[in-house]
Amino acid sequence: MHIRILGSAAGGGFPQWNCGCRNCCGLRAGSLQATARSQTQLAFSPDGRVWFLLGASPDLRTQLLATPQLAPASGEATGSPVGGVFLTSADVDSVMGLLHMREFQSFFVFATPAIQRVVKSENRIFDVLLRADPPVQWQTLSPGARLACRFGEDPSAPPSFICAPTALGGEYPDFISAELRRTLPSQESVVAMRFEQSGKSFAFAPALPENSLEWLQSAAASDIAFLDGTFWSDDELIQTGRGHKTAREMGHLPLSGRDGLLAQFPKDSPCRKILIHINNTNPILDENSDEHRLVRDAGFAIASDGMEFTL
Ligand SMILES: [Zn+2]
Repeated sequence: MHIRILGSAAGGGFPQWNCGCRNCCGLRAGSLQATARSQTQLAFSPDGRVWFLLGASPDLRTQLLATPQLAPASGEATGSPVGGVFLTSADVDSVMGLLHMREFQSFFVFATPAIQRVVKSENRIFDVLLRADPPVQWQTLSPGARLACRFGEDPSAPPSFICAPTALGGEYPDFISAELRRTLPSQESVVAMRFEQSGKSFAFAPALPENSLEWLQSAAASDIAFLDGTFWSDDELIQTGRGHKTAREMGHLPLSGRDGLLAQFPKDSPCRKILIHINNTNPILDENSDEHRLVRDAGFAIASDGMEFTL
């Protein structure tokens, strides 16, 4: 499997257009030892030919253009190596990029029934995806079940890869109407995913709500885990004047603290741990900060745009 990080920041990117925090100002001024990042987006290929997107970020068009492997083959009037998109939530940052893919292109979208309802019934603008012939096809992801993904017509052929989604609980986005929210099951709001092929696997969870410890155990058995690195501390947005909610209230386990991700991830795991979905306020973005060093000393790498992995 080939994996490429197309974007590694949380919603808003780094720097964020309307943010005057220490990190964003320092990056603009060139006084901070840090690298700009676009909004979180992963792509992976089971065979080096067909690619799948994990999430559909608001920066997706730019990210696709910056990635030669995702360009159509020359000489083909239409077509794309992108075969599908896996959605981990209905957050704006996870689904908005679908609108960048509206150019009469057919592909698969894999999502829980609830995420499909939010995108399809709450947001008519996504109907543009139906203009393709054949239209974009939605496939159901059931948390707890393993989805075998095959190419070609033969249902008895061995799967190319397996996707194992896990329900993490977590909240639905706040743009959803109260009426729809009442009917949506909590286990379909935010999922983590594990992708497996030939004994190798990687895990992806850009949002880890507080009760994700069981999933962390299973992620630790993967070869690579891309994990929620949104916030360093629980009160980070309050301290930086960027919001009134704690990290946990926003569905993100902070990195620091006795109950944080660094302390809770299984210590003896050989898994490569990559922090992704990093908010622009997070001090780990400053490469000269204590927090940056603490993360590296704990054995975690910090994702940046363009990183590649092969399993
Ligand atoms: Zn900022």
